[in-house]
Amino acid sequence: MARVVLRGIAKMFGRDAVLDGLDLYVPDGSFTVLVGPSGCGKSTTLRIIAGLEKETRGEIWIGDEKVNDLPPGKRDVAMVFQNYALYPTMTVRENIEFGLKNRKVPRAERRRLINEVAEIVGLADCLDRKPGSLSGGQRQRVALARAMVKKPRVFLMDEPLSNLDAAMRHQMREELKQLHRRLGATFLYVTHDQVEALSMGDQIVVMQGGKVQQAAPPTEIYRCPANLFVARFIGMPA
Ligand code: ADP
Ligand code: MG
Repeated sequence: MARVVLRGIAKMFGRDAVLDGLDLYVPDGSFTVLVGPSGCGKSTTLRIIAGLEKETRGEIWIGDEKVNDLPPGKRDVAMVFQNYALYPTMTVRENIEFGLKNRKVPRAERRRLINEVAEIVGLADCLDRKPGSLSGGQRQRVALARAMVKKPRVFLMDEPLSNLDAAMRHQMREELKQLHRRLGATFLYVTHDQVEALSMGDQIVVMQGGKVQQAAPPTEIYRCPANLFVARFIGMPA
């Protein structure tokens, strides 16, 4: 089981409560999209799940394990960042390999894994290039490959397509959906774009004010928005 559950998560930055009793349920194997306006705490939520930020209060569960006290490297998740976070002086191969560095994977096995994920994301011909010579879409694929090479059960994606042009964004949406089916992993995908959320997710979580406003499949969000905020946010006339 690779569901992710947050119970009563609060996060204070100084005196500001960015998250305020957040409850989140990400079903095992789902493509769950976390959507909400800029600044509502989406990135903070992902960073808390990954262990990159420490919650002020609340419980974090991944599968059947409470992970609050586990360091990032011991959590069965991989994160894909908005700006890709690639190392410009390293080749594509080295960037992907970085996903494995702290895990004692034998060299031959590392090579095999890198080739495997590079093939899946269509980078097999680019492994010796540097990120600076790649297109935006290719850089995005390197970031995906670096997450995939760890074989995590949970992928956390923080607005991974927001730096791409409209055509590439459209293409990558489809590729991500295919990848999700192929890997059978749990995806928690963050966006501030309602259209993207409703077209990609099988579960939608609408966040605002440090809380979840509604969590449901897209059709249900359309049919029965839980409150005025959700109705307005998804573009329904109020
Ligand atoms: P989102 O990803 O939904 O746009 P974030 O989680 O990045 O929102 O940020 C939520 C709020 O927390 C914002 O008001 C932001 O300024 C604040 N914030 C985020 N990280 C920090 C930090 N390290 N220190 C202080 N405030 C922060
Ligand atoms: Mg963010």
